[in-house]
Amino acid sequence: MIRQMELPVYGDYVAGAIKDIRRMSRVKGKLCLRFSGGKDSIVAKWLFDQAGVEYECRFSRTSVDPPELLKFIHTYYPDVIEERNRTTMFKMIVEKGFPPTRVCRYCCQEFKERNTCPKNVITVTGVRNAESKKRSERHKIETCLAFRGVTLYHPIIKWTEEQVWKVILDNHLPYPVLYDEGFDRIGCVGCPLTSWRKIKREFERWINFERAYLWAFERMLEGRDFDRWKTKYDVMEWYIYGVREKYKALEVEGQQSFHADLSENTLYYGDYYEHKPHEGGDMTVDAARNILLN
Ligand code: SF4
Repeated sequence: MIRQMELPVYGDYVAGAIKDIRRMSRVKGKLCLRFSGGKDSIVAKWLFDQAGVEYECRFSRTSVDPPELLKFIHTYYPDVIEERNRTTMFKMIVEKGFPPTRVCRYCCQEFKERNTCPKNVITVTGVRNAESKKRSERHKIETCLAFRGVTLYHPIIKWTEEQVWKVILDNHLPYPVLYDEGFDRIGCVGCPLTSWRKIKREFERWINFERAYLWAFERMLEGRDFDRWKTKYDVMEWYIYGVREKYKALEVEGQQSFHADLSENTLYYGDYYEHKPHEGGDMTVDAARNILLN
């Protein structure tokens, strides 16, 4: 599938990015690349290696990483520093009393946003404008609003997906096999920021993760008798379809674009390496709990 994509010829974008990385390194000193094992961070890392600058590269485990992704990183990127998770998604679900949602992404706060690099080091990511509507508003250099004093630098912010793949294929860079299975974004299994279709597909692909979520939902409900959810399966249904429940019927009737609009424009609040929180900011766990559980 990837190889059938029409790939562009190199413009100045590779040389331009390398030059920019060297300039940033000269001006700002040591840089720290947040590595996810996905195509964008693979290319960002390759650019850093070509630039020959001093940098460190870090990957944060989330406890819901696809095993194939972990194996890929361990095999091809042994130099990447792996930050182990302090807790797990499943423990957090039990503790918080509800699964993470788009507006209360407590897992992202724990696994992703907490892991910006130290304040005196620039945090580098492979974020691109073309990835989503939300990311189209992002800038190459930003001050992180979640963590004051942290500067974010996204060297391939203007790149297209085709440009990213061209660099990977031309340079024979290894990439996770999951792309060849048709996954376009690789990350946490069951992430609430994605569409219900993707969550379903991921749970079919990684059935043990689905079981682990169900286990957490069951533990979470223990001893509760006031609930909107009676069983772990109720929670799972809500987790996958959520507020989209009422639109599910329309989907079944074939009005798929309705869901797509809703998902992209209204519900796409979340974005790790958050720069602009949605209006009103992300909801606190207490506020979300009040709404969901009362
Ligand atoms: S990417 Fe999704 S699942 Fe992973 S930590 Fe963020 S919100 Fe949670």
